[in-house]
Amino acid sequence: MSRFWNEKTRNIEPYVAGEQPKPGQRVIKLNTNENPYPASPKVRDILENVDVGSLARYPETSSLIVRQELAKVLGVNPEQVFCGNGSDEVLAFSFQAFFEAGEEAAPLLVPDISYSFYPVYAELYNIRLKKIPLLDDFRIDVSAFCSEKGGGVAFANPNAPTSILMDLADVEKILQAHPDHVVLVDEAYAAFSGVTARSLLPKYKNLLVTGTLSKSHSLAGLRLGFAVGDEELIEGLCRIRDSFNSYPVDRIAQSVASVAIEENDWVMENVRKICATRDRIAEALRARGWTVPESKTNFLFASPSLQSAECVYTKLREKGILVRYFNKPRIKDYLRITIGTDEEMDTLLAAVDEIAEEEKA
Ligand code: PMP
Repeated sequence: MSRFWNEKTRNIEPYVAGEQPKPGQRVIKLNTNENPYPASPKVRDILENVDVGSLARYPETSSLIVRQELAKVLGVNPEQVFCGNGSDEVLAFSFQAFFEAGEEAAPLLVPDISYSFYPVYAELYNIRLKKIPLLDDFRIDVSAFCSEKGGGVAFANPNAPTSILMDLADVEKILQAHPDHVVLVDEAYAAFSGVTARSLLPKYKNLLVTGTLSKSHSLAGLRLGFAVGDEELIEGLCRIRDSFNSYPVDRIAQSVASVAIEENDWVMENVRKICATRDRIAEALRARGWTVPESKTNFLFASPSLQSAECVYTKLREKGILVRYFNKPRIKDYLRITIGTDEEMDTLLAAVDEIAEEEKA
């Protein structure tokens, strides 16, 4: 605390990212939903051939080449695509661009359990939130989202940390219930579900879909996120970007990202492997008595059978395996476990068995 902090800095409760290992520390890192496989060799080639001279110049402001590549794979036109420094930044810009601030404004509707950055952005930008409780089985309560009045809607699909997917028919019901406000669908994990609301874009001008290269494209360290929506929504995001930082995506990130997007077969092969491992490990944990809802992401939301989630989290950490634990009401009995390589996940299972044996002993 410093006497120079303003009221916002004093009062904000910042987002807490998953623990990062210290340099040189060897751990199995299953706590921040990264991809265990590297990006394609073509990405490495680009990095090895970076023209240092070009870095003397500012990058193109709108990430045009990335938008063109994304437009091709996503089946939209480049004017419908916005790029930012990770989808976190794109989400932050979206909150500023589309949701009204102030005590009098209609609240933004979000699930009570979802990506924990949403309440932080809401606080930062003075946007009132109305948290709609998930159903008992952790699914999003679609009818409550439809009947509640609000100044916009934001949710992740599949949702995090629950890993559960909402059908497109239900996404569409929410879009129809809020025709005058933006419905932001955060699709950070959509590649692992095979379902995307982008197919609804031609029908709904109020739909904004965000995505990221951090998970499916193995580029969390690069920071490239995007939004897809009606051209007027994209123009709104550009207005916010150009009121904050005109160059959010650097030159290296732009050239790497455009190649990584072109390498779609590589990406989809890694996604396929991760989904196969995910389904195998979900079954293996269920066979050990754990409760594991069906995941459509690259992580499992899993509740241990014998010990508390907090205890298992701590014991795994002692064994050099990092998973995520949220000490929050409703989800304190669950761990969020990122899907790593098959070998890493087998080590996790062996550690889970050891921990269970220790409990019995
Ligand atoms: N949305 C959700 C639901 C997430 O879990 C994450 C990753 N923490 C993000 C968005 C942000 O991802 P990035 O900024 O790496 O694109």
